[in-house]
Amino acid sequence: MYEMRAEPDESLPGPGLLWHATHPGGQALALCGRQLSVDTAVPAAGSDATPPTDRYCMPCLEVVREAMAN
Ligand SMILES: [Zn+2]
Repeated sequence: MYEMRAEPDESLPGPGLLWHATHPGGQALALCGRQLSVDTAVPAAGSDATPPTDRYCMPCLEVVREAMAN
């Protein structure tokens, strides 16, 4: 199994999270090779009207998908 970790998505304007998959118990190294901060500060839901946008890291998802297919 893999763990999902979110980090602030800086590729989009406004609040958003990008979800990566990591090895359980790993050093916060995403499957796509990105080093995640150990304590990812998930921003609290803002008071403005724009809902946060969650996206998923495609390279990470591909790894998970292939692992599950086997
Ligand atoms: Zn990733």
